Amino acid sequence: MQTFNVILMLFAAVSAQQPNYEGYQVLSAIPENDSHLKLLKDLNVKDGLDFLKISTRFETPAEFLVPRDQIENVFERLSINGLKYNIISSNVAEDLKKSFQLRNDEPRVFGLDKYNTFEDILSGLDDLLLKCPSSASCVLEDIGLTPENKPIRLFKIVKPSQRKIVWFDSAIHAREWLAPATNLKLLDAILSQEDPNAVSLLNKYDFYFLIIMNPDGYSFSWESPDNRLWRKNRTPNPGSVCRGTDLNRNFDVNWMNDGTSTEPCSDVFGGSSAASETETQNVQNYLRSIGSRVIALTSIHSTAQMILLPYGHTDSNEECAIPADHEKQLAAGNAFADAIENTYDTIWERGTGCSTICK
Ligand SMILES: [Zn+2]
Repeated sequence: MQTFNVILMLFAAVSAQQPNYEGYQVLSAIPENDSHLKLLKDLNVKDGLDFLKISTRFETPAEFLVPRDQIENVFERLSINGLKYNIISSNVAEDLKKSFQLRNDEPRVFGLDKYNTFEDILSGLDDLLLKCPSSASCVLEDIGLTPENKPIRLFKIVKPSQRKIVWFDSAIHAREWLAPATNLKLLDAILSQEDPNAVSLLNKYDFYFLIIMNPDGYSFSWESPDNRLWRKNRTPNPGSVCRGTDLNRNFDVNWMNDGTSTEPCSDVFGGSSAASETETQNVQNYLRSIGSRVIALTSIHSTAQMILLPYGHTDSNEECAIPADHEKQLAAGNAFADAIENTYDTIWERGTGCSTICK
């Protein structure tokens, strides 16, 4: 019996590490009251369902994956609470296989209007150097190597005087492919200097773009349909069959505060210690070395439409911590969100990370 239990435990752990998504469904549900929001939060935090899109307010749809063995239970709880839902995908494995096949059939060429592999992004950055405006210098700088020896590569657009730096990073979460695709568009806009705003910005600031912060995880998410939804890095965790740390929860600032798990199999595992991961150490050390020059730092994620400002943690009274210059940051965040809303007719939430997604 003991052996059987061990085998079962191993199977459960391996499943947690690498589901094959056979029979998984994706549901969309639009909360209309507080009990709906609470149920969605429970499904995410207590039941550990994988949310592709979180919702923290009424009329904003959440999207989440439901494993085959939990479908009946989840349907029942949604129905009891009167939370209406749609099935977006009735077999995630099939959908992942189809889109994997489509991508495999495409020619492997870097493009600004498509998703790109890590290798194609590296060669794309080489090509983009040729677009550097004559008024500036463009430089590639590796700020470190990952455990799998992939470069963590910055694309810098600079002028000789030591100006303030505007920093954009993306793909700290491997599966969020839209983030590096968006970041590459921003890089191209600054390089092209076609928009008057891009001209005035480059007249004033240096730009640092980190397109792929998590190269090992990002590359892994391209390898097979089953890997497509991988989020963390790929470093083994001693004593666990589950690999990877959520790099976004590994920085040495209020480490292991809200919304972080101590369980290595969790998608929000914060690591064995603050800045335990090579990727985190490289980025953290580099940012510390240029910190006084950084005037704006934006980390791009997908898929929620939110501008999340500091801080993401709670204080000793369990209240969301607020920085002294919150009003200034909120004004900048509002300008950012308003500009996107006015351009694309979408709705963007704004607020501190803590008040918007944790509380
Ligand atoms: Zn993310």
